[in-house]
Amino acid sequence: MAASSLAERLKSREKAEKARRIPCPYRAGDVVYVISGKEKGKFGNFQKYVPKKNQVFVEGLNLIERYVKPRQDINREGGRMSLECPIHVSNTAYYCRSCSKPSSLRRRVQVSEENGRKSKTVTWVCRRCGEAREPRKKT
Ligand SMILES: [Zn+2]
Repeated sequence: MAASSLAERLKSREKAEKARRIPCPYRAGDVVYVISGKEKGKFGNFQKYVPKKNQVFVEGLNLIERYVKPRQDINREGGRMSLECPIHVSNTAYYCRSCSKPSSLRRRVQVSEENGRKSKTVTWVCRRCGEAREPRKKT
């Protein structure tokens, strides 16, 4: 058995971690629906994505309570505070606003021809009702 160095082992672990990564399926302005777990059946606004862990933060969901001490330097009151915890992407789905149901997205490719030149436009639409997803917000 060939002895592998620590650097090699770390590298292969990093590689495996990268292979397990799921690209973020949501973007700002999307509504996320929870399929499984404690918050099953609820939905909320997409907040942020943790690519290393494939987890999403959903506004107002998966809350935990913490008791914090008052601090004057950051102007924080003490007492009960609720914090959002991330949810794994596989437990969530895209939620369609127009049909008010959890759904998924489908690519719709439109080919238009102008002056003999073909151009493709890709829009993401709801698999249930065909309504286009809201355009990406420019920041
Ligand atoms: Zn829909």
